[in-house]
This record gives sequence, C-alpha cells and structure tokens, in this order.
Amino acid sequence: MSNVTELFSSMVFDDATMEALLPKQTYKALQKTIKNGELLDAEVATVVANSMKDWAISKGATHYTHWFQPMTGVTAEKHDSFISPKDGGKIIMEFSGKELMQGEPDASSFPSGGIRATFEARGYTAWDATSYAFVKEGVLYIPTVFCSYGGEALDQKTALLRSMEAISKQAVRILKLFGHDDVKQVKTTVGPEQEYFLVDKELYDQRKDLIYTGRTLFGCRAPKGQELDDHYFGAIKPRVQAYMKDLNDELWKLGILAKTEHNEVAPAQHELAPVFSTTNIASDHNQLTMELMQKVAKKHGMVCLLHEKPFAGVNGSGKHNNWSISTDTGINLLDPGETPYENAQFLLFLAAVIKAVDEYQDLIRISVATAGNDHRLGANEAPPAIVSMFLGTDLQAVVDAIMTDKPYAKGDKETLKLGVHTIPRLPKDTTDRNRTSPFAFTGNKFELRSLGSSDSISCCNTVLNTAVAEVLDEFAGQLEKAKDFETALHKLVQKTFKDHKRIIFNGDGYDDAWVKEAKKRGLSNYKTTPDAVAHLLDEKNVALFKKHKVFSDVELEARHEVRLENYSKLIHIEALTMLDMANKDILPAMSRFTAELADAIAKKSAAKAPCQYEKGTLKDVSTELDAMYKAVKKLEADEVKGNDITDVVKLADFCRDVIIPDMEEVRAHSDAMEMIAEQKAWPYPSYGKLLFGVR
Ligand code: ADP
Ligand code: MG
Repeated sequence: MSNVTELFSSMVFDDATMEALLPKQTYKALQKTIKNGELLDAEVATVVANSMKDWAISKGATHYTHWFQPMTGVTAEKHDSFISPKDGGKIIMEFSGKELMQGEPDASSFPSGGIRATFEARGYTAWDATSYAFVKEGVLYIPTVFCSYGGEALDQKTALLRSMEAISKQAVRILKLFGHDDVKQVKTTVGPEQEYFLVDKELYDQRKDLIYTGRTLFGCRAPKGQELDDHYFGAIKPRVQAYMKDLNDELWKLGILAKTEHNEVAPAQHELAPVFSTTNIASDHNQLTMELMQKVAKKHGMVCLLHEKPFAGVNGSGKHNNWSISTDTGINLLDPGETPYENAQFLLFLAAVIKAVDEYQDLIRISVATAGNDHRLGANEAPPAIVSMFLGTDLQAVVDAIMTDKPYAKGDKETLKLGVHTIPRLPKDTTDRNRTSPFAFTGNKFELRSLGSSDSISCCNTVLNTAVAEVLDEFAGQLEKAKDFETALHKLVQKTFKDHKRIIFNGDGYDDAWVKEAKKRGLSNYKTTPDAVAHLLDEKNVALFKKHKVFSDVELEARHEVRLENYSKLIHIEALTMLDMANKDILPAMSRFTAELADAIAKKSAAKAPCQYEKGTLKDVSTELDAMYKAVKKLEADEVKGNDITDVVKLADFCRDVIIPDMEEVRAHSDAMEMIAEQKAWPYPSYGKLLFGVR
C-alpha cells in the first residue's frame, strides 16, 4: 500500500475504529474507562469483545493473545484461537468479554524473583485499555498487565502505570495552585530514539557469539572503524533503505509513529525515532519496534542487533529516552511558555525534576543497569555511569540568576522574580547540546541518554515518574500552606536550585576530570550492574516506591533478585559461548595454522630458503595460543566455582570480579592471534566483514 494515511493504524482497533464499530453507549462507556481508568463492566466488555473479534477476523485474525512484558525484557504471548465447537461438528468464532478483560497464563516459567514461591503459580493478565489492541500476523493482540495471584506485579508495565498515576496525582495538585482547575490528569510522554546495527545474515550465522549472546565475544578491530565520521547521517545504502521502508510500513500499520531514520556513528549502525506518545503506549510501541526491526531484517537477509555493545572498539547502541510531562488540556509542563506565570510554573517543574534527579540519581542509574549496558556507560561513547543534568546555556543563565538574586541579562536592573518576570525565550533547538550528558534539557523535554538499546523503557520511566511525583508532593504540601503564594514559590524554587546544584554539570562528561569533580560533589558512580543494583533496596528507595504505591516490599525485593539473576545468567551464557568457541574453533584452528607454519619451516629449512615470516609468526601465534589455552582453563575452573554460588548477590559479584576479567583475558589472546594469523585460517567472519558487509 502506498498511501501512508490509509496504511497508518490500519491494523489497530483504535479510537476511530471503536467509534465506527461500537454501539454509541458502549463506545462512551469504554471511553470513560480509558480516560478515568475505571473498571469496565461485564456487559460493556462483552459488546466490545464481540466487535473487536469481528474486526480482527476481517483483518485476517484467527487467534487472540494477551500480550505482556514479563521481567525478562522481552514480550510474552500465548495464542488462543477464537474457535468454539458447535453441534454437528462445526465451529463458531467466539471471544467473550471475560477473555478480553482477563487471562490466566501459568506464571511459573517467568522470572518472579521469589514471588512465585509464596503464591500460586497462576498469573493474571488484565487489559490495559489505554493501549489499543491490534492485529499482527493473524493474531489479535491485547496489551495487558501481568500480576501474580496475590496481585503483585510480575511485569514491567504495572509499575509504569502506577508511576504515571502517582505523578499525575501530584502534578494536578501543583497545577491547581496555578489556577488550572480544569486539569484532571497529567501524563508523561516519551519519544525513544532506538539505535541498532544491521549485519548480513549469512555472516551472522557463522558467529556463535552473535547467535547466543547478541554481541561479538571475539574480534580484532578492522582496519577502518568510525574514525572518519563518514557514517553518521551518511547516505543510506540501498539495501538498508529497502529495509527501512519495509519496517516503516510494518510500524505504521500498527499505529507506531515512526518518524526519523538515519545512519548512526558506527559503521552498520542506524537509528529510528518515533514521534513521542504517552509513556505506556510508547513502551508498548518500543517493544513492537524492536521486535519488528528484527523480523523485517530477516526478510532482507540481515540481522538486526539490538545489543548495547555488539562490537568492541566502535560505538555501542543506546535508546535516548525523551521525556516530558503534559496535561490532559495539552500543556507541556516542561515548555517554558510565554507569560511570567507560565514561566514560573515551568521553573517549579524544572526545580522538581532537578531535585528528583539529584535525590534519586542512584535509582536512575539502577534503572538502566544491565550487563550489556555496562560496556557502554563511561566508555567515552555514552554518558558516564555518574548521573548528572545538563541545562544548556540559556536555561542555566536563568537558573543562575534566580539562585544568586541577580539580573539575568546585562543592563537589567531588577533581579529575576518568579511570576513577575518573563524569562528569555529559550530556543527549542539549542545547537550547543551537550552529547556527553546523561540527562539533558532539550528545549521542552529532558533526554535520558543512559538507557541501553535493548532495554525496555518501562523501568527508567517508572523511576523518573515516581521520583518527580515525590518532589511534587513535597512542593505541593509546602505551597498549599503558603499565605503568599508567589513569594513562597520564588523561595522554594531558589532554595531547590541552590540545594541541588551539584547535579547540574554542563562540562564534558567524558573527561576524567569530571569523575574526580563528581566525587567531590558527592555524586554516586556505580560502574557496574551489581554495584548499582545493590542500592535498589536502600531505605529511601523502598520508602519512595511504597509511599507512591508503585512497588511493595515484596515486589521490590523481587526486582532486586531478578535483575541480579539476569545479570549473572547473561554473563554465564557469554562465558559458556566463549569456551565453546575457544575450544571447538579458535584453539584448534590456530593449532593447525601453527602446525602448517612449522611444516613450512621444516621444508624451507631443508631447501635452505629463508623463513623469517614463518618463524616469527609461529613464535608469536604459539605464544598467544598457549596463553589463551591457559586463560581458557582458568575461565573453565572459575565457571565451576561459580556454579556452587547460590546467593544472588554473591554470584553477581563473582561474575563481575572473576568471570568478566577471565573472559577479557581469553579474548585478548584470541584477538592478538586474529590480528596476525592468515585470514583463511581464522574460523569466523572478521569485524571488517561484519561491519562493512551490508552493501
Ligand atoms: P533530536 O534529539 O534527535 O534532535 P528531536 O528533538 O526532534 O530529535 O526529538 C527526539 C525525540 O523526542 C522524538 O522522538 C520526539 O518525538 C521526542 N519528543 C519531542 N517532544 C517531546 C515531548 N514533549 N515529550 C516526549 N518526547 C518528545
Ligand atoms: Mg536526541
């Protein structure tokens, strides 16, 4: 289909479709449910389900599924067909209101972090009616949340929805103080910019590391990398262009607002950015985007790598999480606005974000902590593991003026007073954006740049929403009591800027000097996932989530366990893959190669021919070969030790302290051999082929 407007959302049971297909009363009742988060009554559900089924069948569906996001990071689905037996050996297609509203998948095989042990194995899925149902490959997908029998969240979405409610509640209180009595609900919005690599499928199939772990565990650098900066925004190759076109069509069908596509910094690296949407929908759409990126790539004979660091030595992939807060009346609360009053409101929300990020910097770090992302953060290609904020020159000048009680522009006599003065217009697209900052203000939103490319956006947004909700709650409490609102507001914003200025850093985040400076400022610097996740259960963090009903004690303990467990499991798989590749392919290949060299030396010596190359290479490769063998034996032995560690914290620490360094040692020797050995002798496609193989 060439008509994009027709194609767009054609496979979605969206608002327009519902309005067209549902009886008026039913449509209204459903709208109310969606807007106010009310429970859908059984009768309405039956009518909706029936109409949804007929529509889905017209789109080629035979099955339906409750689609959810367990703590594995990927989505889960179990298909049930609509068929129901009828007398006379026939069937009818049925879909009840109950089947729409609730499902009961067996939860026992999903990570639960111990929740499973205390409750029944059964889990529940329930329709998140704010996210539209859609048809994909003959299946009607119903976006759902996933809970245990006891109501504990077993997924990523439940907490996200709770955090959206928390921030809405507190922001509405603040907005009342500014006279916005019409605002009933506030939503956070997200536009996630998704980075990815494309490699040729035939080459991919020859690399066990890519197949099992999504990244290369071995590989010496190619003669050319990204040093010429010739890939970023470069002309897109025809094969990639065809892929992007196909991908856009698939995304548009599902109502996903795929908007921008371009080449990224590293060779073979690209980016896709959608237009932003409400956070829970953005989260669903990002999951679908990642899934379709991989599916469509296969059709084009390629594989899409979503790993944070598929290749050593070139940039890894992240997912810039552009985040803002908007009212149901359409005001972006992180947009400075035109009038002094709008500016004052903006500065209060800005102050809230600054304080939230400072006080919960550890949680923000934790929310992006994964084994894959550990390779990126602080590696001079992505923001450091230290969380800080960048405001930009214009906004910084405003903040400074307020903090120091000084005029904000030369020649001004008066100091900047909130609610009285208009702040200078902040250009939306400031060109001096600091690419090294983890959390940057970009005109009317903040951009969290630390998130890994393969991660769900749920966790970091749950943290952002909840932390900001907490500060807004505190601010509302103070301002509601104030006799003179404007003075109180000014004082509060000024004090907040002063108290939390340590989190603001406008310099180069990649510079070593920043690490020292950040330490002086008392900012945390958790370099690895185990370092970061250790703080998830800190008293203040538990208190935050409990107070805003985002996570209970049990749920939080479960997340702590699952995150560490996932980390250790991943490292374990990487280690086993590495051993497999070393023992079965690399060591034998290099043994043969050195034997060939030895033969050649014997023959050449007999013929009295010089053999400097053979002798030199034999010596170098043999030395590395033995060293690699020794490193492999150590990794094997340590893997055995690791198998005996049952405590999740100890095991994660062991992986960080022992297994990862072991793996680095094995790799170093292997890469050294790959660098000098004959290409034909090397058992895997090289970095050069992988990175420049798609033409
Ligand atoms: P870039 O950062 O690459 O220059 P843009 O600033 O245009 O690109 O936007 C990047 C992303 O931010 C896009 O996905 C866009 O939809 C999203 N975005 C823009 N405004 C908002 C907002 N108010 N809330 C959330 N995301 C937003
Ligand atoms: Mg951006």
